[in-house]
Amino acid sequence: MKINLRGHHLLCLQGFQGYGYDENFIKNMEIINEKRKSEGSIIQLSDSADDICRYCPNLENNLCQNEKNDSKIKKMDYEILSKLNKNNEYNGPELFKEVSKIFNTLESVENICSECKWHKECLFYLKLK
Ligand code: SF4
Repeated sequence: MKINLRGHHLLCLQGFQGYGYDENFIKNMEIINEKRKSEGSIIQLSDSADDICRYCPNLENNLCQNEKNDSKIKKMDYEILSKLNKNNEYNGPELFKEVSKIFNTLESVENICSECKWHKECLFYLKLK
């Protein structure tokens, strides 16, 4: 089972505890979060709208409606993708293990999480504080 994930969602999934933009978004996030943990999952990395964004009410024509947000999100993706090989396909559990080793201090996620509207609810971010 292959999942398409943009860079910064590799952190967000680890912090997910049921918050999201609407019911459909949350339901999909729950499904993806379970799938990515399964041994047979394959992750294809991306720097644009992914399998999570597809259920976001702010997505139109594959872009975030808010242009300012779109460029901010791309920078967040870059922070992660620059430390991985974007062209590789990864085994889900192995990739998340690797990502957890790289992003394991508040400093390491400063450019990704500090402006995120969910950071007060995000278990991944709170764990680093
Ligand atoms: S604080 Fe925001 S950007 Fe950072 S991992 Fe959590 S949800 Fe993702």
